[in-house]
Amino acid sequence: MDNSGAVRETTTTTTETTTYDVIVIGGGVMGSSTAYQTAQHGAKTLLLEQFDFLHHRGSSHGESRTTRAAYPEDYYAPLVLESNALWPRAEAEVGYKVRYPARQLDMGPSESTILRALISSCVKHSLAYRLMDGPKVQDEFLGRIQIPSNWAAIYTDHGGVVKPTKAVSMFQALASRNGAILRDNTEVTEVNSLGGGNGGVLVVTANGEVFCGKKCVVTVGAWTKKLVKSVSGVEIPIQPLETAVHYWRIKEGYKGDYVLAGDEGFPTFASFDDPLIYGTPSFEFPGLIKVTMHGGQKCDPDARTWGPVSVAAVREWIEARFSGRVDSMGPVTGLRWHLLWGGCWPIWR
Ligand SMILES: Cc1cc2nc3c(=O)[nH]c(=O)nc-3n(C[C@H](O)[C@H](O)[C@H](O)COP(=O)(O)OP(=O)(O)OC[C@H]3O[C@@H](n4cnc5c(N)ncnc54)[C@H](O)[C@@H]3O)c2cc1C
Repeated sequence: MDNSGAVRETTTTTTETTTYDVIVIGGGVMGSSTAYQTAQHGAKTLLLEQFDFLHHRGSSHGESRTTRAAYPEDYYAPLVLESNALWPRAEAEVGYKVRYPARQLDMGPSESTILRALISSCVKHSLAYRLMDGPKVQDEFLGRIQIPSNWAAIYTDHGGVVKPTKAVSMFQALASRNGAILRDNTEVTEVNSLGGGNGGVLVVTANGEVFCGKKCVVTVGAWTKKLVKSVSGVEIPIQPLETAVHYWRIKEGYKGDYVLAGDEGFPTFASFDDPLIYGTPSFEFPGLIKVTMHGGQKCDPDARTWGPVSVAAVREWIEARFSGRVDSMGPVTGLRWHLLWGGCWPIWR
């Protein structure tokens, strides 16, 4: 693309004779699942990743991510419902599980426009939901979680927890099994149009290799701004954020209260106040629960600070919500995932 957004034409020659139907740039969960899907549909697919596969410098690593159909943005529900049918198919093909069903509990001040939007989305997509006030939350969860008297909570089905690193690994294994070529340590620096009316692109890498593709899918997360700038000179308004995910100790006698166990277990949750706090019961670290703050500090994805993140607001939230059953003194040290936000998840205000 040039500065006007048009894709630049090129006269570069390829170092490889293969023409791929699809070249996918970026081997996080988006790129790896794309490569699986295109390869499975018979497209000759190449997946290029700048770092080692399953590295810890992007967004798609770690042990848990919440999935749920009930979002304030109503375009998510049909996508999530469709993906809920697709996860088990991929799991059956690979032979292990990466997604575990759970319910979702959203909460916040009763007048919150976000909660209202969430209910509208449930109504629009016929998703069953239960609207609860403080006493109803108390009855339903028997003190495991509580909300202030001027708050409301919405309890929905169709959610779950995905194990991200395992999911990326699964998609890469399945992409490869379906004939895709996977290359890591291959940074893409240019994407040039072949022109001539038939489309097609030449993808150039930092080590001088050139790959020819009929189509190209770019899934580079927090590096999107950098790649678009290097390819086209255009500066797009995406600001990567660096954040950290924390785990907190459940006190003795209450460990069984916060277990992920499908519809019977404790739900995944989000609290739409300022700041937005969310979490999941943790099966990766028994006796701990993941509770963390949405958002983070502005960063350059190639010059990270890996700095400490304030947990004061999360401590307060834990103290008030979990009836003293979770230790709010501080998160478990040494168990902290540093991740990047690349603009793929909504920033709720
Ligand atoms: C703390 C945190 C919590 C989250 N929680 C949830 C949640 O609960 N539920 C949910 O649905 N989502 C959640 N998300 C969002 C979700 O994790 C992301 O939307 C998802 O992982 C994005 O995947 P991706 O493949 O787009 O990006 P990434 O995983 O960052 O992958 C991009 C890849 O592109 C590669 N790349 C970049 N530039 C180049 C280049 N020039 N050449 C080749 N390769 C390149 C990178 O190295 C990287 O591997 C969360 C995100 C964060 C940070």
